[in-house]
Amino acid sequence: MIWTVIGTFGIVVATIIVGMFADRRWTLLPRKEDLLLASGIRSQLPGQVEGEAPATAITASIGEIERIRRKQRCPRCDIPLDSAANQTVTHEGAELSVLQFTCARCGGIRSIYVREVP
Ligand SMILES: [Zn+2]
Repeated sequence: MIWTVIGTFGIVVATIIVGMFADRRWTLLPRKEDLLLASGIRSQLPGQVEGEAPATAITASIGEIERIRRKQRCPRCDIPLDSAANQTVTHEGAELSVLQFTCARCGGIRSIYVREVP
């Protein structure tokens, strides 16, 4: 009886190990990067997109800031983002506004750094 259990367990473990080696050798399962690429989600480093980091802050007037605020969409759900309260930060001696957005569907958060000009 015990050898039936141990034998079954051994077969399962051996199958998993053979499967892992086969997947490494011939790539049987899709890789995470391929799935992300296929779904349209691109992995981006912070600061690559204009306004997403203090160093790449967008210079804008109050009217342009309103336009930026209105056109924000969730990259995952493709629905307009809800605007949250602004924050102010100081970066290299300059005061920057941080426009904050949340997605009502997935809860995603986005911050856009803006250097306000008259
Ligand atoms: Zn979303």
